[in-house]
Amino acid sequence: MSVEKPGWRALPIAATIPTPSTSRSYRTGEWRTSKPILDPAKCTNCLICWIYCPEPTIKQGEKHVEIDYTYCKGCGICASECPVKAITMVAEE
Ligand code: SF4
Ligand code: SF4
Repeated sequence: MSVEKPGWRALPIAATIPTPSTSRSYRTGEWRTSKPILDPAKCTNCLICWIYCPEPTIKQGEKHVEIDYTYCKGCGICASECPVKAITMVAEE
């Protein structure tokens, strides 16, 4: 016996975002257990970490990138992808 599944029109309206830019107040840096530490002397400003970072936390700078710890969640992708090992992950205190 086949069971007829409801279509998407039958689903109730769920989440709504009443005001824009709510993600800015969602401080993903509070999740962090490991912290990326940049060695500015090694950084070549290639921006590979900027491309791979899943949060908009790596900022372009004149000579090297900068990390915004308010939103960095400590995933470590930047440290894994950096071709010159300019980023080291350390335990969050
Ligand atoms: S990937 Fe490494 S060298 Fe390139 S910008 Fe990021 S920290 Fe600097
Ligand atoms: S640890 Fe993850 S979230 Fe933080 S700067 Fe690196 S890639 Fe971005």
